[in-house]
Amino acid sequence: MYSSVLSATISGVEGVPVLVEADVSGGLPVFSMVGYLSSRVREAQERVWTALRNTGLTFPPKRITVNLSPADIRKEGTRFDLPIAAALLGAFGYLEHEKLQGVCMAGELGLNGEIKGVRGILPIVDTAVKNRCPLCIVPSANLAETAGFCGIKVLGVSSLEEFLELAKLEDWGASLVSEPESKEEKDEEYQDDFSDILGQEAAKRAAVIAAAGFHNILFIGTKGAGKTMIATRLPTIFPELDREDSMELSRIYSVAGLLGGERTRIRTRPFRSPHHTATAKALAGGGAYPTPGEITLAHKGILFLDELPEFSRSALEILRQPLEQRKIFISRVHGNYEFPADFLLAAAMNPCPCGYYPDRNRCACTRHQVENYLGKISGPLLDRFDICTEMREVPGEKLKHRSAGKTSEEIRREVLRVHEIQKERYKGTEITFNSRLSGKETEKFCITDKNAGRLLGKVYEKLGLSVRGYYKILKTARTIADLEGSEKIRENHISEAVCYRSIDKKYWK
Ligand SMILES: [Zn+2]
Repeated sequence: MYSSVLSATISGVEGVPVLVEADVSGGLPVFSMVGYLSSRVREAQERVWTALRNTGLTFPPKRITVNLSPADIRKEGTRFDLPIAAALLGAFGYLEHEKLQGVCMAGELGLNGEIKGVRGILPIVDTAVKNRCPLCIVPSANLAETAGFCGIKVLGVSSLEEFLELAKLEDWGASLVSEPESKEEKDEEYQDDFSDILGQEAAKRAAVIAAAGFHNILFIGTKGAGKTMIATRLPTIFPELDREDSMELSRIYSVAGLLGGERTRIRTRPFRSPHHTATAKALAGGGAYPTPGEITLAHKGILFLDELPEFSRSALEILRQPLEQRKIFISRVHGNYEFPADFLLAAAMNPCPCGYYPDRNRCACTRHQVENYLGKISGPLLDRFDICTEMREVPGEKLKHRSAGKTSEEIRREVLRVHEIQKERYKGTEITFNSRLSGKETEKFCITDKNAGRLLGKVYEKLGLSVRGYYKILKTARTIADLEGSEKIRENHISEAVCYRSIDKKYWK
């Protein structure tokens, strides 16, 4: 007898439908599994068989063939255990074949028949929706993640026994098991606030511009100036994600196995700050079957690299392609994988190994040492920062007289307003933020008034800017103008944007 059921495998962060087929026939009792399987999928044979018997079912000795199709896609992971068991139950006549049609399932089996949670449930449910499956069966442990899907019923099961009970019901009734509940949406509360930072007005202003236009930002300055303090407060001035972005991010975190428990949705922009010992693989996503790396986990949010020059050259170089294309491609023997990676790069660094350059009273580094240190940041990488801001230590005496300035909430409202301006301006295009404009789009959307145009022309010649540098100034100026609510870019917007481009010239000559 033959039976089949739908499941899905994960490629990158997308689900790919996989049909799990089982056939039982007379002949020598052997169990074979085919369909371009990784060793972990092959092991399912032992798990499924033992789990089925431990559930109290008996099976006559038969020739069993299980096939996972299509055969040209590599299947990986333990999520096929449950669909294999279901297809077998169908083939042995414990379940009607018709009953399994229109059902998509995934789950790992324990030898005692327990059904355990798996990574990547969201893309699997997505696949079910795309394939017009009315029902999805997932491990109870993953059920909360699936809340909020429309047009599909999702049921959670925690053991094979429970699964069989459920299957006995006329219409896969929901009486025995729980359906996912939509949890109360709650704003994330931050411990830190922008008003914690005293002084450092210029750097704070730069951070606000970066958040408003999603510009990459580099904080450079003496030790103890508070670079990390500002950078780690960046997430507090970002508005919440909209539903679409939230779903996309949740899918990524589901594949990475980072959803579960209390955390069933990603609603705020992620902030990832890998340590400087992180390898290129950890940033990009590694393994024979790659899972999302730091840059993908920072998608739609902030990737913060503290002590930038301390990162290995290979780790820094791997950032260049995703910074340009907003996604990363990984090639493996079994296939090519694509992961989204549209993040804001924030970085902080000391200007020299001791951290006090250019204060020659305190910095004891030789010229060569300083150059070497700064040289670790390659020109092309440096070029990816729209905003470079310098920070100096503020003496304690002076700090006493400084006011705290705006709170994160006040700034967040400003940033939200600028995000909305951009949404309106780029309606019907793929553009999300000012920083994402191509050359041609920059010409179209960044209109300067006469004086601003003249100033930009002068700067272009004086600083010997590249075309890329020229556009960068325009894009940053666009955001500054938006913060001011100005339709046209004026002279003061250009001159401020130029400041953020000329600080790096001071260090990297
Ligand atoms: Zn030094």
